[in-house]
Order: sequence, then structure tokens, then C-alpha cells
Amino acid sequence: MAKFNEAVYRQNGVERVINVDDIVKQSSYVDVVEHLYCPGKGCHAKLVFNRKSNGTNYLSKHKGYEHDTKCPYFSDSEIVPRAETEYIEEDGALSDDGINRRKKQAQSELMSFLNPQTKTKKATPGDKPKARNKTVGNGEKNIVIQLRYDPNADGVENNNNLKVREPAFYNRLPQQISELDSFKNLKTSARILAVDVSEQDNFCTILGELGSTKIKFIFPEAFFANTSSVVSSQLSSFFETLSQFVKNVDTELYITTLCQTREVDMTNLQVYVYTSNFLSFQTRRNTYNSLDAIAIAISRNSVL
Ligand SMILES: [Zn+2]
Repeated sequence: MAKFNEAVYRQNGVERVINVDDIVKQSSYVDVVEHLYCPGKGCHAKLVFNRKSNGTNYLSKHKGYEHDTKCPYFSDSEIVPRAETEYIEEDGALSDDGINRRKKQAQSELMSFLNPQTKTKKATPGDKPKARNKTVGNGEKNIVIQLRYDPNADGVENNNNLKVREPAFYNRLPQQISELDSFKNLKTSARILAVDVSEQDNFCTILGELGSTKIKFIFPEAFFANTSSVVSSQLSSFFETLSQFVKNVDTELYITTLCQTREVDMTNLQVYVYTSNFLSFQTRRNTYNSLDAIAIAISRNSVL
């Protein structure tokens, strides 16, 4: 498929070429992404701006448009027949395997950021389902359960062994988060600067920073209520342990977690964590896959 490094923005007689990496920086990006066209001379094929789960951006041709026959990208347009897939939407929690796989991806993103020169093993790319059925043209219909993440729901009941497609959690280091990430599931990391625990209300916030970008992780009451394995008072005391550690010990400690955004305010980045098994912690040397794991390591003075 054609790779477009740039697109023509064309609207109300205005026409200019924009590089793909500059699109998110446009002050009026909502308008800009609606009016992007193929850079081929005289071509009016519309382009779609896409963001990959690792934060990189790319452009693709809108399926409803074709290149002009004289367009240099014309030969690249190909019609790929797809099997018809029916998606059934269901609310549900993520599977433990799904959570752990996503945490590993996020942990390796942070390690690549902290050690850009050493090639850390790339996590399996993105959250794209690999199980997309390739049977084509025989009129068969795939039925896939498309899971909408709901922290309150149980796992999906799947009596008919249907494929379950769990929702994407996009890799976004704090400096990659933009307004485009409003109301999304994300995976992110930051160095912990302070932990603020309010014991009466079952509420906690962690202030973090990566590069020069500050970000606040919010653990609302639901975070404490959703936890079945550990009682909520233990969660508070684990956060308290973490708080003391960050205040008193000079070791760099990072939080890496799955989370959700509300409307993103670039002057006050906040993400929400609703489930304790979304959490993990990292130092430059070690990974702690849960809040209790880091709290226990702290109490044993074994965090390196
Ligand atoms: Zn074209």
C-alpha cells in the first residue's frame, strides 16, 4: 500500500502541503484531518489520518475515493476482498492474559525511552488482533465479540467459543498524549514524584513526570471498590508505603499502567486507573507487576 509522507490540505480555496508528522501540531487539526487529499498532482482522492498504537502517525487513502488514473499513486490502489465480519459489542473486563500482555508492551516502551541506545526487544506491535479471519469470498461470516472495556463488568461469557476482540490500549508516553487521546484507553508510564493518599475517601493520586511532561494518575473510589483480591484498606496502605518510599529514597521509581482518559487538557494531563491489576512499577533494573509486589519489595528494602 502507498505510504504518504505528506498530504494536501484543501478547503475553501486554501491549499497547502502538510507533512504527516505536522498534522497533530496544527492548531485546527479537527478541521485539517477532515480535508486531507492525495499529494499526487491533480488527484482528488481523500486521505485518512491514522494513529498507530505506538504513537506514530500515517496517512492512507479513504476507502470511498479512488486515485486519478494519472496519479502516481494510482497503481497502488488495490482492492482487497475481505470476509464479512460481524461484530457483537459487549461490555466486559479484560482477561488476565490480555492485561499482562499489555503491561509488558508498556514496560518495554518505557525501557526503550530510558535506554534509547540499547535496542530493547520490541513488544508485539500494537494491540491489533492477529486473529482476523482471512477466509475470503465464500460468503462465510465471522462473528467476533468486540469487547468494550468496562471496569465493572465481569469477563465475557463466551459459550459458543466466539473470537473475543479486546479493546485497544494505545501506547502513549506522557509527551505523546494529545487532545486526540480524549476518552481513550491508554498505556503510559512516568517517574513517580509524589503519592497522595486520602485514607478516609479511598482516593489516591500519583504525580508523575517523564521528560519534562507532568502527568497525574488518579485512582478514584471505583479503583478501590473494583478490587476483589485485596481489600481496599490494604490498597491504601500499599499506596502509603509507596508515598514514604518516594519521599525518602533516592531511587527512580516509575509507574507503568493501563488507564483511561477523559477530555484531555494539555495544561493538566490526567489519566484514570479503575482496576488495580492494571498497575505495574519499574526501576531501571527491575519490574514489579503489581501494587502489592512493589509494596512488599519496599518493606524488604529490596527495591533497586
Ligand atoms: Zn492520488
